[in-house]
Amino acid sequence: MSASAPPVLLLSKPQVESLLSMDECIEAVERAFLHLARGDSVQPLRAATWLPDRRGLLGTMPGMAGGSDEAPSTLGIKVVTVFPGNHPDDDDTPALPSHQGVVLVFDARFGNLTAILDAESITAIRTAAASAVATRLLAREDASVLALLGSGVQAETHLEAMRAVRPVREVRVWSRTPEHAQGFARRAREAHDLPVAVFPFAEDAVHGAELICTVTGASQPVLQGAWLSPGAHVNAVGACTPHARELDTEAVVRSRLYTDRRESLFLEAGDFRIPKGEGAVTDEHLVGELGELLLGRSPGRGSEAQVTLFKSLGIAVEDLVSAELVIRKARAAGVGREVSLG
Ligand code: NDP
Repeated sequence: MSASAPPVLLLSKPQVESLLSMDECIEAVERAFLHLARGDSVQPLRAATWLPDRRGLLGTMPGMAGGSDEAPSTLGIKVVTVFPGNHPDDDDTPALPSHQGVVLVFDARFGNLTAILDAESITAIRTAAASAVATRLLAREDASVLALLGSGVQAETHLEAMRAVRPVREVRVWSRTPEHAQGFARRAREAHDLPVAVFPFAEDAVHGAELICTVTGASQPVLQGAWLSPGAHVNAVGACTPHARELDTEAVVRSRLYTDRRESLFLEAGDFRIPKGEGAVTDEHLVGELGELLLGRSPGRGSEAQVTLFKSLGIAVEDLVSAELVIRKARAAGVGREVSLG
């Protein structure tokens, strides 16, 4: 008779948030990019199951993040719904978040399920951590003026992440719904003790900015290349599907382009595929993956005046290393609930 499987650790959103600090997540995601570039991770493409009316999708993101003595290999999958219409509106009904789901982690030695973690919090933090890795590698050291296009969950975590890697002293925010930008600015001023200004036009927010994060659900460009100042660094985070884009063609053409995963960029990123379809860029426009840059296989910024662009698609190994870190800390602190499925 076979032994029953060990219990499964359940970790809620507040528990993940309390255990996953931005600084630690940045280091973990950097390790994930390194392992990926060395070839000791497994990272298939994700699958998106769209509703017939395309109101939302169920994304399934499997992978195995290579490990070390410090952090073991992590096998698992993030299952996440993306319902952009869930973004909080102005009535009294608390709206659900646009991204919801779980990360399922399995023991890579025996295949048993070991943990189930809230994915909303992991997605919020690890995505900004990936942008922080890119910013640390590519942005000018003294970049201090940050423009955020978008004012939702990712805007919040990106502000924290940019502050972790660059001396941000001025924050500008533009959002489609001005009240949301104002609410964001109010919360950000309280949380960060920084000047945070609301801009009615994205162009004005971007003009002179040294760091720009596009964190919107837009499917048409919100950022134009003509607005970018020499030396700016852009983290393009929204528009993770082939027909949507946040950047116009010129923004991509003008930039030295980097990404998290080449295959994902070529197949999933409208920000790349649309300019390519127009004949404005070829695959060679991509300088490299962040992991290749970390290994010294791809060159970084070549001059103070260059514009650099990180197109983030978001890949499972980022979720898995973050989950592994949270699980390790939860077990050490006795946080979470164990349930037996056996
Ligand atoms: P939220 O739902 O919290 O916020 C969405 C933001 O996008 C809001 O500021 C909203 O503006 C803005 N927005 C929505 N539709 C449009 C539009 N048509 N034009 C301009 N702005 C628009 O989402 P998140 O912050 O969690 O995610 C932001 C984006 O990042 C999404 O596209 C999401 O899919 C993507 N993402 C990417 C990840 C990655 O790894 N690359 C991971 C997670 C998310 P307002 O409220 O002012 O109307």
